[in-house]
Amino acid sequence: MAAGRASAYAIGLTGGIGSGKTTIANFFQEYGISVIDTDAIAHHLSAPDGLAIPAIRQEFGDAAIASNGAMDRNWMRGLIFSDSGAKQKLERILHPLIRQECEKAAALATSAYVIFVVPLLVESGNWRKRVNRIAVVDCLEQTQISRVIARNNLSQEQVLAIMRAQVSRDQRLAAADDIIVNESDLSAAKRQVQELHRQWMGLASAR
Ligand code: ATP
Repeated sequence: MAAGRASAYAIGLTGGIGSGKTTIANFFQEYGISVIDTDAIAHHLSAPDGLAIPAIRQEFGDAAIASNGAMDRNWMRGLIFSDSGAKQKLERILHPLIRQECEKAAALATSAYVIFVVPLLVESGNWRKRVNRIAVVDCLEQTQISRVIARNNLSQEQVLAIMRAQVSRDQRLAAADDIIVNESDLSAAKRQVQELHRQWMGLASAR
């Protein structure tokens, strides 16, 4: 371990696609809190010279690697679409590395608590065990759909297909210790972040 402190109080921040996880996590970062984003880490791992590239090449062959040395995302998407086992094979490579990189980042963090942003946290027993608290960013499903259509230029059907592969809003809310309602303007979300930051600072220092 790089840092000599006990592992920091850990918040798992989750929410459905387009709920506003990144937006909310950025607000916590403004308070100096270390935010560890599993999507960003996954992206890094499969970028040129990423730690996962050798294992991806070994598992799927040279065709899986683009000329710039990154995982060829389009090729992999196509494979996963036609071969149901490919997704699990890729996850078996990525998940342990994501976890390892998260732990490295958490060990280096100096803030009173750390936030892991994990889109599929409720779906993952390992992540649920790892964090001290689960915070869910919540909004109406229709709001998720509109935001993702606007951001990614996807169709309603494509967004719904992604949402169907995630736990339902009710299941996610049932797992929450804290809920951040991100339905209206950002100042309303910021006020909730301010209050949760106050609470989590208290919980982290009381341990
Ligand atoms: P994903 O699961 O796809 O990674 P996410 O949960 O991290 O998404 P964001 O990227 O933070 O969500 O937000 C999705 C989109 O909605 C972004 O374009 C963001 O700017 C916008 N957005 C988030 N919160 C609000 C809000 N309260 N009002 C208006 N737009 C918002």
